[in-house]
Amino acid sequence: MASGAQPEVLIAGGGIGGLSAALALALKGRRVRVLEKAAEFGEIGYGIQMGPNVYPILERLGVFKRMAPHVVYPDALVLADGITGQELSRINLGAKFRERFTYPYFVVHRRDLHGSILEACRERPEIALAPSQGLAQFSQDGDRVFVSCEDGSEYEGAALIGADGLWSPTRAAVVGDGAPRLAGHFVYRGLVPTEEIIDRSHLDSMVIYIGHHLHLVQYRLRGGTVMNNVATIESVRFARREPNFGTPDDLEEIFSHCAPRVRDMLRYISRERNWVLHDREPVTNWTKGNVTLLGDAAHPTLQYLAQGACMAIEDAVVISGLIAKAGNAIAAALAEYEKQRYLRTARVTITSRIFGDIIHADGGARDLRNHLLEKRTPESFWEIDWLYRGIEAA
Ligand SMILES: Cc1cc2nc3c(=O)[nH]c(=O)nc-3n(C[C@H](O)[C@H](O)[C@H](O)COP(=O)(O)OP(=O)(O)OC[C@H]3O[C@@H](n4cnc5c(N)ncnc54)[C@H](O)[C@@H]3O)c2cc1C
Repeated sequence: MASGAQPEVLIAGGGIGGLSAALALALKGRRVRVLEKAAEFGEIGYGIQMGPNVYPILERLGVFKRMAPHVVYPDALVLADGITGQELSRINLGAKFRERFTYPYFVVHRRDLHGSILEACRERPEIALAPSQGLAQFSQDGDRVFVSCEDGSEYEGAALIGADGLWSPTRAAVVGDGAPRLAGHFVYRGLVPTEEIIDRSHLDSMVIYIGHHLHLVQYRLRGGTVMNNVATIESVRFARREPNFGTPDDLEEIFSHCAPRVRDMLRYISRERNWVLHDREPVTNWTKGNVTLLGDAAHPTLQYLAQGACMAIEDAVVISGLIAKAGNAIAAALAEYEKQRYLRTARVTITSRIFGDIIHADGGARDLRNHLLEKRTPESFWEIDWLYRGIEAA
């Protein structure tokens, strides 16, 4: 640290959350160092949905304009029954939606989003990006935090923000609540050129086919040139503690009772890799002194509201505002950050579980769901109003 300079804020993890926080802090004039475990900063090659709650944040961070040419604005969020293939309900994303939420809903390739944040970070002299620096442990002494990395490197900062994801070692030390909760839900993804898509009935929308223990999401990316396909199963084998849960066989079996045209969409899904879904119970002790957590490290959620990364981006703008105002009172700012973020992120986690149960329902629950969905109007937004209207700091 240069003598007289304000000490750095250390961030462990350079995912969407960690880099957003670095950028937001830098724009407030704060020096930041991002310690990333991987040899390169990066994201997986699939899509991500972004609510209107984060649009103004990404605009203000100077990120949106960088990825704007690749962003897609679906005309509607369509829910269809996977068993019959019939549309049940839709939320129109046009004029009324914009009137209600001021900003649009959009989808983007994760690498376009993460790459744009990274590019903006690289342009800021306040930010030092340190790949191959996996946080191993840390300690605190007064108003300083000391981090040791896996290769023995050591850093000193005014604060540590653990943005190190679902399996966060920072969380292990701060909260100590063990492994995240295994939901028994498994995700398979696939990205294919749009011209390969056979069923072209919802090309301009974000469509979700929902069925017993399953759903399949489709939306286009990169100016509409590629189709992002995501199939999720709630494994019956897992629930019964049988072997081979979450496997490609499990995927085929669970989708076997879908309408042929929905079952056929599995052709776009790669079997090479799956994502095992976890979340955690909301907690109120993710901050200790000058160390706190952000994004999935703090409040991992299932993806049924498509808001995990959105929450990380919201976290970033809240924490940067509070740290900027704090002067030397960093611990108080971090405590206030957790307080401001707790209930909103808890609501995302809990509502995501409930949405998952509803969309994966069968029997009477499915009949009731379909009946209520069919009665909705496309301009009824009450279910997502609290979420999409965003936060004050945005
Ligand atoms: C199937 C699926 C679909 C989803 N869809 C959406 C969606 O549509 N919209 C949405 O908003 N969210 C969505 N999410 C959630 C979203 O992907 C996550 O919430 C988000 O990526 C979390 O970002 P993060 O920066 O907190 O964590 P991560 O992206 O996990 O980043 C953590 C970073 O920390 C690094 N790291 C790990 N350990 C260390 C260490 N010891 N030291 C230093 N660095 C370390 C990792 O290498 C990584 O770069 C989805 C999730 C899933 C599984």
